[in-house]
Amino acid sequence: MGAVADAIADGGMGGRLWLYSNYHCNLSCSYCLTESSPGVRRRVLDAAAILARAREARELGFTGVGITGGEPFLLAWMPALLAELAEILPVIVLSNATLFTGRRLAALEPLAGLPVRIQTPGAHPDLPRQRLSAEERRDARPEELRQGDRGDPRARRARNRRAYRHHAG
Ligand code: SF4
Repeated sequence: MGAVADAIADGGMGGRLWLYSNYHCNLSCSYCLTESSPGVRRRVLDAAAILARAREARELGFTGVGITGGEPFLLAWMPALLAELAEILPVIVLSNATLFTGRRLAALEPLAGLPVRIQTPGAHPDLPRQRLSAEERRDARPEELRQGDRGDPRARRARNRRAYRHHAG
């Protein structure tokens, strides 16, 4: 085994290679670690580069790939990329899960049965869970959701559950 594979096997480093596919997002959470929002400059790691890094990772001994952003599903080619990535290594993709309607949802159907997991907020597998105080939770809510406080409370709670803590670590 190589040094990376040895370190992963010994527990000295995680086995998943994380890649940022893009930095823009449909939300603009006040706590966002990447300062993502709809207005940031578009910076995208293209599909070919992601596939190349995944192949290298497999050769080095990594056991999985993670894709995060920004919101990866703003990229129309993301579902097709995930299907290709799944042939290389198991994949987790982090998403705020607020875009899964219509064509975007239908585009995910071919991923059924593949080693692809779409992870929504608050359930990051590789990061320690962080306990926030009630005040921190209120401050951490995305601006769009704070502005929507006058709307239907059940819909608001559902949106909060999906968006809350995406990338809050
Ligand atoms: S925390 Fe996640 S959902 Fe919120 S702005 Fe950043 S990338 Fe988007």
